[in-house]
Amino acid sequence: MDPTVELACELIRCRSVTPDDGGCQEIIGGRLAAAGFEVENLRFGEVDNLWAVYGDAGPTLCLLGHTDVVPPGPLEDWQSDPFEPRIDDGKLFGRGAADMKSSVAAMVTAAERYAAVHSPEHGRLAILLTSDEEGPGIHGVRRVMEAFGERGTRIDWCLVGEPSCQTALGDTVKHGRRGSLTGRIRLRGQQGHVAYPTLAENALHHLLRIVTPLVDHDWGPGDADFPPSSFQISNLNAGTGADNVIPGVADVCFNIRYNPGLPREAIKQVVSTACESAGFAPGDTRLELDWHHSGDPFITREGPLLDALEQSIRAVCGGRPARSTAGGTSDGRFVAPAGAQVAEFGPLNASIHKVDEHVLVDDLPRLSEVYEQTISRLLVG
Ligand SMILES: [Zn+2]
Repeated sequence: MDPTVELACELIRCRSVTPDDGGCQEIIGGRLAAAGFEVENLRFGEVDNLWAVYGDAGPTLCLLGHTDVVPPGPLEDWQSDPFEPRIDDGKLFGRGAADMKSSVAAMVTAAERYAAVHSPEHGRLAILLTSDEEGPGIHGVRRVMEAFGERGTRIDWCLVGEPSCQTALGDTVKHGRRGSLTGRIRLRGQQGHVAYPTLAENALHHLLRIVTPLVDHDWGPGDADFPPSSFQISNLNAGTGADNVIPGVADVCFNIRYNPGLPREAIKQVVSTACESAGFAPGDTRLELDWHHSGDPFITREGPLLDALEQSIRAVCGGRPARSTAGGTSDGRFVAPAGAQVAEFGPLNASIHKVDEHVLVDDLPRLSEVYEQTISRLLVG
């Protein structure tokens, strides 16, 4: 069996439902240590992170991945045990097969082959793995990058292995991601009978006066790399279920996916203005507004990382990959602010987080080859 497929199977067998690493990093750490890497375990809270480095001077290329997976959901919906790898009809099935144990396996085998023929003096090749990508993302790469900032560990190029391709391996590279900001508003009025509106205060009417202008607001254009920023209401809750009660409380949750042309503070200002226009000045105790920020947008528009990756994809897969910033955010959001170039390349993403998640077996050695060539192009030239 191909070594990358074999390792991917071994990792799928580890029940690493987020934030549990399930023993993946022990397997990987052992292999990388044997290949000459210096391996460091960085555990924060209940999260295992692994940092392995080969080479001690020069620019640092970091291959970034996660060992945790999302829960499998109802087992009876799967054709086979999600934690028992199954190869059928050229596909490898299992939870994490696509997101992203195959990429992690491909990174490890690529790094092993690289270290077997290249001395450490060419530059620093690092692998960073976390078990907190699918969960809250607090004690994972976010925390590791804080620690790296304190101790001065620098990353110049970061290649993330998230599944980026759509219909064929090599068709898409992610060279950036949009930012993500979530807002929650709770509005308190006064509950009452619909027949006596003057004795009540309809919280939902207030809330609609705030959110309707936000829905209609022009959040600004996209650019060559990003679609226009987008505002979406995800939840709107009010009412008792009865048809004769004015709601006393109304809640809304909304999310803005924003591009670099729209600063986070500008978004908050638009929302504040909408609140004030609806009659809720700052400090009004009837209104609670909470923000949760997942990450700012990041983009690598050019540079050695993108060049090396795209050349390697062309050499291995044929054809030129499209560049995309679509999809949710990734752990690249924590690495980019430290000044690293970030690009993402991994297998097909059609089955991620679904039942019967799978990858094409033949894609795994090719993915490993793309990673190895990218490493060589960047560190050896
Ligand atoms: Zn992932």
